[in-house]
Amino acid sequence: ITRPFKKAVWIDCGVHAREWIGPAFCQWFVKEALNSYQQDSGMRRLMNQLNFYIMPVFNVDGYHYSWKTVTSVCHMPRSQLNFELNLIVHEGASLHPCDDTYCGPFPESEPEVKAVAKFLRKHRKRVKAYISIHAYAQMLLYPYSYKYATIPNFNCVVSDFHLQTVNLEFVHLGGDHSVIIFYVSSGSSIDWAYKNGIPYAYAFELRDTGYYGFLLPETLINPTCTETMRAVKTIASGLLKKCTK
Ligand SMILES: [Zn+2]
Repeated sequence: ITRPFKKAVWIDCGVHAREWIGPAFCQWFVKEALNSYQQDSGMRRLMNQLNFYIMPVFNVDGYHYSWKTVTSVCHMPRSQLNFELNLIVHEGASLHPCDDTYCGPFPESEPEVKAVAKFLRKHRKRVKAYISIHAYAQMLLYPYSYKYATIPNFNCVVSDFHLQTVNLEFVHLGGDHSVIIFYVSSGSSIDWAYKNGIPYAYAFELRDTGYYGFLLPETLINPTCTETMRAVKTIASGLLKKCTK
């Protein structure tokens, strides 16, 4: 049931086509949330007090394409998210359709990005956390990624229990996750979300650190999703506490 006064959490997966563990996590989240609702009082509380918006596959055609073609990423105009935020003048984005980091011809050129941006703008008063699931690196990123600067609510986002606990939860099973503050990329959705008034914006880079890379074996789906679930629940719990704007 959607109640308009509830705070909300947005989670998107599969922004980048070849990061297959992302869509797996979004599906995992929905399944776990529904299955554990009865027994897990923590999950029940989150589900009762917050609205969750889950976008399992952001870059639909790119994802589909990546299942058929491993060697080339050409002609995948949606392989890189193209939110408007100093899109192409910075490092980390490419104007060439054959590059993995291709950002599209202009900001919000892709219908999915446009639709999501419109939705988030419309609901920015309620959406308090924006979480974007990526791979791989085993890191947790937060704004700003497009420039070397500190966000205004840095203390709230970083140094309170919030991020520390999130990171702890994330580290718990995976072993060597770490937090990185500045990671330069352009057109990043977390920067966009933060700029548009969503106070908690995070990008997860899930397993691994490069051994399997994007082709994470099936056996690692469960532990990866389990640890990420804990971290996402911690972020969501944080919204019910004080430090939230
Ligand atoms: Zn990505």
